[in-house]
Amino acid sequence: MDCLLRINMGSPGGPAVSRYGMDGYAGLGGRGLTSALIAREVPPLCHPLGPENKLVIAPGLLSGTSAAMSGRLSIGCKSPLTGTIKESNAGGQPAQVLARLGYGAVVLEGVPAGDDLYKIVIDRDGARIEIDNSLKGLPNYDLIEKIKARHGDGICCLSIGPAGEMRMGAASIACTDMELRPTRHAGRGGVGAVMGSKRVKVIILDDGKTATREPANPAEFRRANKLFVEGLRSHPVTGQALPAYGTNVLANVINEAGAYPTRNFRQGRFEGVSKISGEYQAELETSRGGSATHGCHRGCTIRCSGIYVDKNGRYMTKQPEYETVWAHGANCGIDDLDTIAMLDFLDDNYGLDTIETGVSIALAMDAGIIPFGDGAGAIDLIHQVGKGTPLGRILGNGAEVTARCFGLDRVPAVKGQALPAYDPRAIQGIGVTYATSTMGADHTAGYAIATNILKVGGFVDPLKTEGQIALSRNLQVATAAVDSTGMCLFIAFAVLDQPETFQALIDMINAFYGLSMTGEDVANLGKRILEIERDFNRRAGFNGEHDRLPRFFHKQPLEPHGTTFMVGNEDLDKVHNG
Ligand code: SF4
Repeated sequence: MDCLLRINMGSPGGPAVSRYGMDGYAGLGGRGLTSALIAREVPPLCHPLGPENKLVIAPGLLSGTSAAMSGRLSIGCKSPLTGTIKESNAGGQPAQVLARLGYGAVVLEGVPAGDDLYKIVIDRDGARIEIDNSLKGLPNYDLIEKIKARHGDGICCLSIGPAGEMRMGAASIACTDMELRPTRHAGRGGVGAVMGSKRVKVIILDDGKTATREPANPAEFRRANKLFVEGLRSHPVTGQALPAYGTNVLANVINEAGAYPTRNFRQGRFEGVSKISGEYQAELETSRGGSATHGCHRGCTIRCSGIYVDKNGRYMTKQPEYETVWAHGANCGIDDLDTIAMLDFLDDNYGLDTIETGVSIALAMDAGIIPFGDGAGAIDLIHQVGKGTPLGRILGNGAEVTARCFGLDRVPAVKGQALPAYDPRAIQGIGVTYATSTMGADHTAGYAIATNILKVGGFVDPLKTEGQIALSRNLQVATAAVDSTGMCLFIAFAVLDQPETFQALIDMINAFYGLSMTGEDVANLGKRILEIERDFNRRAGFNGEHDRLPRFFHKQPLEPHGTTFMVGNEDLDKVHNG
């Protein structure tokens, strides 16, 4: 990964490709690289859909190696949804392939004149950019079939659906999985809209079976990787719960904790949870001939994904994840998994973030557009987003736009981004992360659920304020570092609980690059990334007053515990200044 591939879509004679060394960005990968580049090269006050914004696509430091779990891809830009800096990451094959081709990042710059649509092919011969208007308006699944027919199945792709072409705030970028399906999405923050603004429909990657990247110290690397995998396999979350039931194993757990947001965050428990739980989902998938255990990229040993098939055994979508099942299920009052699976497929096909879309539909239900629990109505609404009807364009631009258009005052969003599937009134630690993350409300930015609920890395009582600031701060620091490695964040369960697994991860990085980093160095990397991101946000006009939850979380108690979000503003201000 020794160069940056810059593609200026706005170059006067047509898109221009140039290759640069990693100067100034050497030693960075994943989120560390996307955030450093955006902070340095993108004017913080620019319009996110204008020519000054850049889309940075970066594999992690260990991507393209034989390290287990190392296939996460970071995609960064100034977000059209939040106006902050953004890093959204996804699984699938592209990170491994891009890294093996030798790229630290692909950087899309500028905006082309006219309304032609482009495809980019990156292989061992370099990068080629072609106009292909026959791709206009294609949903992701049809698009990938068409690309496959032309380029074969030895490729992988990043693509946008109609939502990205229409530059909607909830638009995602799809990454193809091992079966070359567009199922893994960099969903959050409208990164797909930025790709759409640059008129790039699809990036096709072909490494021609290039070998994995070679470590500086192969024997030590192999030893550390073996220990790392053993650590993942021996931990109950990464070795048992996630492989057996997927992330949706959390539905029953979070419902039991009274923190499962139901009908636009009005209740903390959903009466229909047993019909949409991970346990039921896995049973249904296997009984129909699908699969409840599946990896989203080669080298994943946890395999939290699956294949969801209909009652005739036909493929419907990948296993809908916990956040998706919640966003389209409990939060919309829908308790039918086949309906939720269809909504998941439509999100993937049109290229939409499932969280933002589910929360927007729940708001439309709150506004009386359709009733809570109306599955057929929800499916129709997503089709409207895909078609770009006036109502669809409102919903496709996310929770805040939807709430404003329908005059709602209970809007579960921070810095313009919808809250995920954990109510902060019943899990105070995740509320601290939602409020203070550099990305807007984002559970993955500092997953306090691990310690508040799952008792991983210790225990901090979810219903009390004590300990939540330090918990969220430490998790945000650790996450920024992990997001730079290319590792799936789910390794954190084992890494937080088992010192030897954490050490094995550091040993792998050291063996690969010939370094001698310590745990403290890793923490310092995370802190530095957060500082860079916060500095960008400050220059974009954000301050401590934006690090807050919506008022209704402080004012309206949530049943069954009858609690509100109780962490005070002074304490929130200490997260990044403590
Ligand atoms: S654990 Fe799940 S999300 Fe992570 S890499 Fe594996 S399949 Fe993908």
